[in-house]
Amino acid sequence: MAHVVIIGGGFAGVWSAAGAALARGEADLRITLIAPDEHMVLRPRLYEPEPELAKVELARVLGPIGVEHLRARVSTIDTGRRVVVAGGREVGYDRLVLAAGSELVRPGDLPGAGRLFDIDTLDGARRLADHLRDRDDYAAVVVGAGFVGLEAATELAAGGRVLLVDQAEVVGDELGAGPREVIRAALDELGVELRLATTVTEVGDGYAVLSGGNRVEADAVVWAAGLRASELTRQISGDLDHLGRVPVDGHLRALPEVFAAGDTAAAAFDAEHTVMQACQHATPLGKVAGYNAAADLLGLPLRDFTPGPYVTCLDLGGAGAVFTRGWDRKVMASGAAAKEVKKTINQFIHPPVDDASEILAAAGNVYLDLPFFPREEEKAA
Ligand SMILES: Cc1cc2nc3c(=O)[nH]c(=O)nc-3n(C[C@H](O)[C@H](O)[C@H](O)COP(=O)(O)OP(=O)(O)OC[C@H]3O[C@@H](n4cnc5c(N)ncnc54)[C@H](O)[C@@H]3O)c2cc1C
Repeated sequence: MAHVVIIGGGFAGVWSAAGAALARGEADLRITLIAPDEHMVLRPRLYEPEPELAKVELARVLGPIGVEHLRARVSTIDTGRRVVVAGGREVGYDRLVLAAGSELVRPGDLPGAGRLFDIDTLDGARRLADHLRDRDDYAAVVVGAGFVGLEAATELAAGGRVLLVDQAEVVGDELGAGPREVIRAALDELGVELRLATTVTEVGDGYAVLSGGNRVEADAVVWAAGLRASELTRQISGDLDHLGRVPVDGHLRALPEVFAAGDTAAAAFDAEHTVMQACQHATPLGKVAGYNAAADLLGLPLRDFTPGPYVTCLDLGGAGAVFTRGWDRKVMASGAAAKEVKKTINQFIHPPVDDASEILAAAGNVYLDLPFFPREEEKAA
């Protein structure tokens, strides 16, 4: 029986599995998802005080739609022989979907790097929450004032003093000028101290040293300085983009028998932009890549990847949130109104469980269909 293999159990992998199951219908096709953990981790929720809530049991999504889960880590992809090596054993495939996600870029050579905390993985977020739990007051340093660092800093400000540092000259550099004023006002309101054009040069027991030599108190130093695609991408292409992602065509195909989705895929968003490393894009990318991998084997027409409108919703802790639309990131809502949007998104990103028809219907509905993601309206505007 023909075999679709999916590497990764995050947004892209899970939705690839559902997309492939949708294309399969009643046909004979084996679908296997390979990922080491029994849970799908909802990384966008890892800044929350209870990271334990940011997970969904994979069996509850994959079981009802007849997708096998091999709990293993893939070390090798042999595209010539069409096999992957997972947990020391070879698994053959007819079509492969690479959806192994991304990882925080860590500063290996920073003195004291072993003391750094992060909210990149469930284990990392648990470790940070456990370390700071039950402390009356703490001093935290967050390195990186991008999306993840801003969410970490504003959340941590609820229980302690926070210093946010970034080597850039502006806060939220990657988010553009649109939401900058809202972000700055939120940091002021929460008492988060901001040091720009600054980085951390050493981490010690209870302290951090900043570039320029200042030593500051730090019960925890949280590293949040950028994501890079899984190293597995190197085994698919020698032509990776600056985030380590594999180039794919409009069907999300990287090689004749290999598709890529989520944070590993450099798919075109439009003529000017590639997709972001964001669950907002990983989810529809997965739905299309998985569908196409199965459709390709079954002789069905492939789907084009045509993304919905680009939005961002950044949580700002006790100061609410900021919600933007478009690549110029026009602010649509801030404060409490945007916080409601964020709460809705943080629930909405949980996939349906236990019910095959609900899961497959969601796989067929490629784009998020929420009041604040009005695709048709955006197109008409
Ligand atoms: C704190 C934080 C906040 C974020 N906030 C937002 C947000 O507000 N909005 C937004 O859109 N995005 C946000 N993101 C980004 C978003 O989480 C990612 O873009 C998204 O998780 C990518 O999905 P993915 O499936 O491609 O990869 P991942 O979620 O990284 O999943 C990768 C999967 O592959 C598995 N895997 C990795 N290596 C292997 C291997 N060798 N073999 C087998 N399996 C492997 C992993 O175990 C995991 O199951 C945030 C990220 C973080 C860390």
